Amino acid sequence: MNYADLANAGVSDLPMYVPGKPIADVASEYGLPVEHVAKLASNENPFGPSPLAMEAVRECIGSMHLYPDGGACALRRAIADLRGVGEDAVMVGNGSNELIELMGHAFLRPGLEVVMGAQAFIVYKLVTRLFGATAVEVPMRDFGHDLEAMRRAITDRTRMVFVASPNNPTGIANDGDALLAFAKSLPEHVIFCFDEAYAEYLEAAPDLREAILAGHKVVCLRTFSKIYGLGGLRVGYAYGDLDLIALLERVRQPFNVNLIGQAAALAALEDVEFLEKCRGANNQGREQLSAGLRDLGLETWGGQANFVLTLVSDGARYFEALQKRGLIVRPLGGYGMHDFLRITIGRQDENERLLAEMGLLLSGDAKRKVG
Ligand SMILES: *Cc1c(COP(=O)(O)O)cnc(C)c1O
Repeated sequence: MNYADLANAGVSDLPMYVPGKPIADVASEYGLPVEHVAKLASNENPFGPSPLAMEAVRECIGSMHLYPDGGACALRRAIADLRGVGEDAVMVGNGSNELIELMGHAFLRPGLEVVMGAQAFIVYKLVTRLFGATAVEVPMRDFGHDLEAMRRAITDRTRMVFVASPNNPTGIANDGDALLAFAKSLPEHVIFCFDEAYAEYLEAAPDLREAILAGHKVVCLRTFSKIYGLGGLRVGYAYGDLDLIALLERVRQPFNVNLIGQAAALAALEDVEFLEKCRGANNQGREQLSAGLRDLGLETWGGQANFVLTLVSDGARYFEALQKRGLIVRPLGGYGMHDFLRITIGRQDENERLLAEMGLLLSGDAKRKVG
């Protein structure tokens, strides 16, 4: 009898998340100096962490022999103030990915369905499968979530529906009023998980609190991994109805968010200046990358998050070729988008380098075709 025979049904067949390769691995694999490798693969903040967060981390490292505040009180209070909700309407997690998994712990089981976009964040499907529920994938419209089609896909067995706006990996956002109407249109047995991982990059993020207050089942998810620049510390949060948050609290580990992460996230929330700077630079970088890629003759979707999507002939090959030159981007074969690359918007110099290398690759290809 081997381990697979002993494992729970389906465990051996679970798909796995494939993360972007760390900079150090790419450097050693291709014999490149570490400082020559730029990671434009995981939608991390190219400007690093907020300076206030770094300061807060330095201040708390002497306390890391102590368990963190299990209730994350200070952080939850600050988040509640920012979002305009009560403290008990907020829960923090080990990244928002943990909160997605906790939603599964609390609400999913075999026989239930989860509705999601066909090119939505892959973690929705992984968590659905983890709990033996069925993923119902709805085709997208122009790379955005087709809310009407998603509404039509809802049955008596549906327990959850996921929408990310802007969506990853496509970058397309849905209209705020349409999202609110969607939330209000859902039947009582369906929970709307609204993933706002990139909301801070929008000029005006949709606000679903009105639906929550009116008793519609909505949970909003946010993260410190993107604009706040704290991906390495794993902090995210959920806000929603008190009864929902109370259930999620029951299925988490006692100290799910670590001490350093709590301190850094709390300080990052206060660093409004850093956030504004990153949002502005991201807008400029999006223009730079989108225009540059179009000048190279590539079809490009700028979206509204911190990455752009572009159509190349063979995503995996371009990914490999760029990686060899010290630029890590994301091929999208895992999303069935084999001809696409997702490129995180970097600093101006990183974007320039990406465009220059893409130009070289494309002209090399063109010559080969002519020859
Ligand atoms: C990056 C991302 C997250 C954030 O995950 P964390 O676990 O908080 O790092 C969540 N949802 C989407 C759609 C993302 O792209």
